[in-house]
Amino acid sequence: MQPERFADWIYHPELLAQAVPRYTSYPTAAEFNEQDLAQDQHDALKAVRGDVSLYLHIPFCHEICWYCGCNTSAANRTARVASYLDALHCEIVAVSRLLPPSVRVSRIAFGGGSPNAIQPHELVRLVDALLVNFRVPWPVFSIELDPRSLTPAWLTAIRGIGIIKASLGVQTFDPRVQAAIGRVQPRDDIARAVDGLRTSGVDSINFDLMYGLPFQDDAVLAQTLDEAAALGADRIALFGYAHVPHMIARQRRIDASELPDQRARFRMAAHGHARLVDAGYQPVGFDHFGKPGDGLAQAALAGTLRRNFQGFTDDQAPVLLGLGSTAISQFDGAFVQNEKNTGRYRMLASAGVLTGRRGTVRSNEDHRRGGVIEALLCRGEAQIDADLRTAALARLAPFAARGLIAWDNDRLILQRGSEPYARSIAAVFDAYRSGERRFSSAV
Ligand code: SF4
Repeated sequence: MQPERFADWIYHPELLAQAVPRYTSYPTAAEFNEQDLAQDQHDALKAVRGDVSLYLHIPFCHEICWYCGCNTSAANRTARVASYLDALHCEIVAVSRLLPPSVRVSRIAFGGGSPNAIQPHELVRLVDALLVNFRVPWPVFSIELDPRSLTPAWLTAIRGIGIIKASLGVQTFDPRVQAAIGRVQPRDDIARAVDGLRTSGVDSINFDLMYGLPFQDDAVLAQTLDEAAALGADRIALFGYAHVPHMIARQRRIDASELPDQRARFRMAAHGHARLVDAGYQPVGFDHFGKPGDGLAQAALAGTLRRNFQGFTDDQAPVLLGLGSTAISQFDGAFVQNEKNTGRYRMLASAGVLTGRRGTVRSNEDHRRGGVIEALLCRGEAQIDADLRTAALARLAPFAARGLIAWDNDRLILQRGSEPYARSIAAVFDAYRSGERRFSSAV
């Protein structure tokens, strides 16, 4: 039987049977060990050279969406929020003091959670602390926002700080799907947020959208994509919803019987990809899209796209420092994740102690394989050393047989229509995968 074709992609379910990581790092967070990494974090901070980017984690939301896998909790306990922010201020001081004075911060990102679940003046105070404690000559500020709570006071703060990039949690415009995932937000809220951000000086707005949601089909997804394009999203991230209620308890509220099956998910992803391309968006990696001229789309075209814990990025800084509970720092020689439990994080950071409690040291082999994986996912091709190629040939054979990859001497090149299989192809070079289902489906 001929395999089915959906838009530009051909459905090979046998190639998607194995769950694979999203590869926002290599080794992935699944390989992190529980250990006190404060000394490694200390040494790595002292050894930083050149530019760094900062990520600040705000683990609070006004309402908790049922599908969400983020480390976040309700923002209604103001004393808890205040003490978390106090701890974050302490961590800013502790981390900045260890950096050599020549180190400059090029980008500052606020994520969560929903950073706009705190008060706008609290974000302004955090920015002040960053500017006082770090060397920040020309920072590029970005922020993740919940459109439902983007108040005029928040827009004033965004303009005052000079935030120029924002990412809105949208997921779907369809009211029935919204109700089924516990995130009801009228289209007008989103349109108002976009207008407000534009007039506040934000020049790059991303919409996070999802396929594979309950009651969603091709037509429902198409309507959401058309709305996103009509509202002028500069970037769109189209993620597949991963239903893993055994790992994320809040997802138990989602009726699994209404979820599309894998074939329907693949079809939605394929048609969604084609629809966004038809609407003029440039594909970026395997699940992002950018208007031509947007920094991410330009990076994809120029071959400078990168992948870090924030996903696909045009950020070229070699070091990413994560501040706040759960935040991960990416050093050349190690990944260090801060204490996940916000109560313990508050105690440690408030005592002026570094809070790295999980992570892994990166070996030369990790660097080599991680470079291959990042190149495949970001540039669609990678130089493969002879020994890696020999070891990988058998596992790559099914992809080669279906025309999804080709070789040009020692260069492995992903072919047109390989996007849904990119993570699975990259996983061939992952020395840690043992085959068990710990990750989401590639589609
Ligand atoms: S607003 Fe965002 S971070 Fe908060 S619960 Fe919903 S999806 Fe998760």
